[in-house]
Amino acid sequence: METTPLIEFSHVSVRYGERPALEDVTLRVEPGRYVGVIGPNGSGKSTLLRALLGTTALAAGEVRIGGRTPEQARGAFAYVPQHHTEVRDFPLTVGDVVMMARLRGMAPWRRIGRRDREIVAWALERVGMADRREALIGELSGGQQQRVFIARALAQEGRVLLLDEPLTGVDAGTMELVLALLAELHGEGRTILITTHDLNTTADTCDTLLLLNTRVIAYGPMAETFTPALLEATFGRHVHIGEGGPHAEVTENVIHH
Ligand code: ADP
Ligand code: MG
Repeated sequence: METTPLIEFSHVSVRYGERPALEDVTLRVEPGRYVGVIGPNGSGKSTLLRALLGTTALAAGEVRIGGRTPEQARGAFAYVPQHHTEVRDFPLTVGDVVMMARLRGMAPWRRIGRRDREIVAWALERVGMADRREALIGELSGGQQQRVFIARALAQEGRVLLLDEPLTGVDAGTMELVLALLAELHGEGRTILITTHDLNTTADTCDTLLLLNTRVIAYGPMAETFTPALLEATFGRHVHIGEGGPHAEVTENVIHH
């Protein structure tokens, strides 16, 4: 018997004005996959996640999550957006920022309860920020802020994690912690989609790759998609891959071994 795909894009196009951001995207993500979405700046990575969340209108096609529309499936996701300027500039504590995940969609008469506090504490624990709960978010380093935003996403309790460039501009310690955490969450059976323009991390962590440049250049298991020809087609320039294959070290889209 065929399993129902968790996520399905059928001929999805998104335009901002005249300009296409996604064109004819068709793909299925089976439950439990760890998908790296890579492509140059402006290739539609963030738009793809927004299409899943139902926060961008489709010009054509449809998106289904377990057979439901993005609007119906909103609770399925834990989302770490690319930019967090909306909270960074407010005098909020780390605990407040994570608690925001619990307040979203809460009925006005419901109060923050013990379970909410427990989940916030658990989420901060998982990102190694439990001891910074009372700190102001704006006073933390970029890497620490990113951990807090991941904790906020975890507190949403979605089974599918969507992370938009969570590793851009973070320190080495945060990168290691985040990658280890994602590996753990994946091991617990969660589906993960992570966008990045850093081939290095995706090649080493994901099992599936989506090469995106407005259109799908390639989609499938890492071993079939992480090839010089497909990477060149995605980035529009030569990408050298060493003998290490997908697990080789990559810097600035050039792979050394
Ligand atoms: P990526 O995340 O890969 O950098 P995006 O999905 O953010 O790409 O953007 C895809 C294209 O759509 C780019 O050309 C970008 O400039 C454009 N775009 C993204 N968001 C908007 C928006 N809100 N309004 C107008 N154009 C947008
Ligand atoms: Mg983006």
